[in-house]
Amino acid sequence: MNDTGILILGGGASGLAAAIEGARRGADVTVLEKLDRVGKKILATGNGRCNLLNRNASPADYNDPSFVGRVFAQYDVRSDLDFFRSIGLLTTADSEGRVYPRSNAASSVLDVLRLECQRLGVRIVCGETAVSIRRENGMFVVGTHRARAVIVACGGKASPVHGTDGNGYRLLEAFGHSCTRLYPALVQLRTDTDFVKGLKGLRAAAALTLRAPDGKTHSSCGEVLFTDYGLSGIAAMELSRFAADGGTLFIDFLPDMDGAQTRDFLREAKARGGSRPLEQLLLGAVHSRIGQAIARDTLQRKLTAPCDTLTDGELHALAKALKAFPLTVRGTKGFADAQVTAGGMDVTAFSDTLESKRVPGLFACGEILNIDGKCGGYNLTFAWSSGRLAGRSAAQYLQK
Ligand SMILES: Cc1cc2nc3c(=O)[nH]c(=O)nc-3n(C[C@H](O)[C@H](O)[C@H](O)COP(=O)(O)OP(=O)(O)OC[C@H]3O[C@@H](n4cnc5c(N)ncnc54)[C@H](O)[C@@H]3O)c2cc1C
Repeated sequence: MNDTGILILGGGASGLAAAIEGARRGADVTVLEKLDRVGKKILATGNGRCNLLNRNASPADYNDPSFVGRVFAQYDVRSDLDFFRSIGLLTTADSEGRVYPRSNAASSVLDVLRLECQRLGVRIVCGETAVSIRRENGMFVVGTHRARAVIVACGGKASPVHGTDGNGYRLLEAFGHSCTRLYPALVQLRTDTDFVKGLKGLRAAAALTLRAPDGKTHSSCGEVLFTDYGLSGIAAMELSRFAADGGTLFIDFLPDMDGAQTRDFLREAKARGGSRPLEQLLLGAVHSRIGQAIARDTLQRKLTAPCDTLTDGELHALAKALKAFPLTVRGTKGFADAQVTAGGMDVTAFSDTLESKRVPGLFACGEILNIDGKCGGYNLTFAWSSGRLAGRSAAQYLQK
């Protein structure tokens, strides 16, 4: 048996942060990682740049503001910035508060975490999957490892190529913890393809409203990227947690103008267009190909006809299409492509120290919990904050 003080299951973002906080408090820490090296997902984040934090992160940016508020009351984004500075990472932030390593390389983030673990004497065991946690004489046993405290930091179900296939939930369920329904989040939307296919590769700044099958509506705004299967881009991905069961999406291509302003613009465009073809009507409003696709879909007639043939009814229909173009959503690209899992272990069964209310000495942090946030550094912010909290709490548990 390999004895250790704190055994951390999962060497991802939250697990490595937990290891450092635990070891800084003098605990003997071992990290068990199923892949051949720790932090593989960190390397893939932010398109290889790692958007590691968001300076503006607040509890309201997450699905459960009350629980996240209790975590951030102990470790918020400011203290995470200090934490990274303390392990030697210089960072830079953009106008939206998104924080990146100054090197612009995700590998810098992983390197400083790994080096700090090494400096503190954290044992890292790779290529070993935790398949069960047993209780034996007041200790936790995982394979050949025995520990007084265990932190489950196995992540969620999103992006299984990075080691997260949802197997971690079972480790906690075995102790009577429950898991909510899981949805892929921050993932591309699959839609009817008639409209989007021809627009593949084009981007638009738009506001989106999703009417989900349960009748609830959800909104986002920002960049939309057309693909041959549907929509990508931040605005589309932010709605994906509500789109697993499909729904209807309305695209507002002119979010800065109201309906009346849009109709006025179209009247002016018609007058200006005169005998020029209808396919040129929306040229100054949206990308020419997007404008043609909207006009073709809405008018259902030849766009070679002159602009001044546009009837009042058609003008109103075009204005409506520009403000709320409907697209049927068929679901999302799923967990394989998702950045995050929405849903997870029920957080009401964990105290403010992230210790299980059912099993003393058992802690959980990161994405395995039923917490997910917006796109832009929010999910890693929660991973670091909750990981650091679990590491500190487990070290304090050992001192009891
Ligand atoms: C492509 C991509 C890009 C992203 N970009 C960003 C971004 O720029 N900014 C942002 O804030 N968020 C981003 N995210 C989300 C963010 O990476 C995660 O929310 C975060 O890593 C979750 O941290 P975690 O510690 O809970 O889990 P993870 O970082 O997923 O780590 C879990 C670890 O546990 C290991 N593991 C799983 N099961 C076991 C087991 N049974 N035994 C041992 N080890 C196990 C896994 O191999 C993995 O290494 C991105 C995600 C993806 C997939």
